Amino acid sequence: MTELEKLRHSCAHVLAEAVLRIWPEAQFAAGPPVEQGFYYDVDLTHRISPEDFPKIEAEMAKIIAADQPFERSVVSRGEAIDLGKAGKLAALGERGVPSRYKLDILEGIPEGEEITLYRNGAFTDLCAGPHVATTGKIGAFALTAVASAYYKGDENNPQLQRIYGIAFPTKEELEHWRVMQEEARKRDHRKLGRELQLFHVDETVGAGLILWTPKGAIVRQELQNFISEELRRQGYEQVFTPHIGRLELYRTSGHYPYYSDSQYPPLVERETLHRLAGEGCTCADLAARLEKGEAEGYLLKPMNCPMHIKIFDSQPRSYRDLPVRLAEFGTVYRWEQSGELNGMTRVRGFTQDDAHLFVTDDQMAAEIQGCLDLVKKVFAAFNMTDYRVRLGLREPGSDKYVGKAADWDRAEAACRDAAKTLGVAYTEEPGEAAFYGPKIDFVVRDVIGREWQLGTVQVDFQLPERFDLHYTGPDNKPHRPVMIHRAPFGSMERFVGVLIEHFAGAFPLWLSPEQVRILPISDKFSAYAGEVSAALKAAGVRAAVDTSQDKLGAKIRLAQVEKVPYMVVVGGKEAESRQVSVRSRKAGDEGSKPLEDFVERIKQEISERLL
Ligand SMILES: [Zn+2]
Ligand SMILES: [Zn+2]
Repeated sequence: MTELEKLRHSCAHVLAEAVLRIWPEAQFAAGPPVEQGFYYDVDLTHRISPEDFPKIEAEMAKIIAADQPFERSVVSRGEAIDLGKAGKLAALGERGVPSRYKLDILEGIPEGEEITLYRNGAFTDLCAGPHVATTGKIGAFALTAVASAYYKGDENNPQLQRIYGIAFPTKEELEHWRVMQEEARKRDHRKLGRELQLFHVDETVGAGLILWTPKGAIVRQELQNFISEELRRQGYEQVFTPHIGRLELYRTSGHYPYYSDSQYPPLVERETLHRLAGEGCTCADLAARLEKGEAEGYLLKPMNCPMHIKIFDSQPRSYRDLPVRLAEFGTVYRWEQSGELNGMTRVRGFTQDDAHLFVTDDQMAAEIQGCLDLVKKVFAAFNMTDYRVRLGLREPGSDKYVGKAADWDRAEAACRDAAKTLGVAYTEEPGEAAFYGPKIDFVVRDVIGREWQLGTVQVDFQLPERFDLHYTGPDNKPHRPVMIHRAPFGSMERFVGVLIEHFAGAFPLWLSPEQVRILPISDKFSAYAGEVSAALKAAGVRAAVDTSQDKLGAKIRLAQVEKVPYMVVVGGKEAESRQVSVRSRKAGDEGSKPLEDFVERIKQEISERLL
């Protein structure tokens, strides 16, 4: 536990103590620190709402002012059970009813593990700790939200109320956090996505399935063009594959049935369904037969890899053909729990910036390096300079990994060497590798300090085995290629979601759905406005004329709200001299310029993808 987590978990105890002072019957379950603060789950008939927060916070402030020491004690399992039965755990003293959740948690503690209690003031809790020395160490705190949560996340268990809070060592840090929260709300891609008409989610289409509206589609297309250009330079070949594939394919790859819980259920052919129904097959039978491979069906693809493998394997390959680099903006479908869905960043259907590289052992290091060069280039193009890299390595001494130790050594060294060249912080995380190979993850920190896990580069020794891939070596013998999976930006959905927040909706010119808006001062100048628009469009610029009857001031404000990078105002003076009066989002009023010069400049800025 970090110092901050210790502080926050201590604040959870203070929260529980305060709630008990107000509602002595409250029963507590788990109260851990989390990424954004802490929570404590409470079972209470009274429905807690944010209106209750000031009352609870006032009690918490008293407990903190009293500077109660946290006292740790070790007890035997028997003693702990007795205390639980007397209702004395997560309580202010003896109660008529047992501390039922604490008794249940106690049962889950393995035999032989030390059982500890922490007491502050009158409040005693079953807790592994650690805690800060006294409640007074909690410098500043606030309750932030209340939500419902099933005990242990299982919907068959009782529904509890989860009270969330935040805590810091100082008031200044809490204040900074509040400002950042406000900024995050302003930048929320779900809110901006709606306001700027970038994407839509419709319950009738399905939760977690993104409809890219025309403006969002432009952003995505520009992004794909940009990435594709880089991929062509790096010698990738573009492929397209279908959205469904036979279960057989995913049985070979191992994606089915092992990951069934995170997939949409299979599609079964009509004839098979009729035949099985005629045989009196139940739904449960059908599911079992599909899993055992006794009935065939199709899967909405959860991964693109098996299809790229089939493209690689569709012709004999020689060592001279390698590396083969197959790229696809490939759409995959995964069944995320509905509670996990979030705008564009947690979805059920998404298009990965996917590619698979089939390489010889000797090529592995250079190809991993190439993947990282692309990442570096793309992040730089968005001024995302604050990112870090996580290296997922083997757990020392474990034998769960496929592939030869020597291959792993080489792959891990290649990942490490490539990561070093990025010039950003990287951490080595032993035990975080997949069982089939080491990996590199990218975590971007945005302008307001939040971290976003994007994509990954993953070495794979296993799928080439499962699909029995080979190429002919210089010795004329068959050799096994190594595969590299890479989707450095994760998915187009996630990346665009992150970009919306990163730019607060104000995309750079080249990504903007509308690049220039022409504002005629009045109807009299609509002919010249049309000419300006035609000149821009002929140069490939996305331009539109504001033809409304609004006053110029209102037109300017609307274009600002819609975050259009350039406005050009046209009136009599401009029409006569074939000029435009330019206002840019960055520099404000730039004065009048000849139309041709302006068109040239915009073209230039777009082609250079200036920020
Ligand atoms: Zn605790
Ligand atoms: Zn893959």
